[in-house]
Amino acid sequence: MAVPARRTSKTTKRMRRTHFKLHVSGLVTCKHCGAKIVSHRVCPECGYYDGKPVVDVKKD
Ligand SMILES: [Zn+2]
Repeated sequence: MAVPARRTSKTTKRMRRTHFKLHVSGLVTCKHCGAKIVSHRVCPECGYYDGKPVVDVKKD
């Protein structure tokens, strides 16, 4: 079994772990209203898809 020549320092360990991040995929900005929406879905805020109105969104 391979054995590390020396112990990984706290800084090296922490620098490596700066890349461990949660990533939210598939979120895009609505072209019409600028809200964060799931890509390839109609915008729930304004009812637009691909720059065109496709559904009516009732706002109270
Ligand atoms: Zn929108």
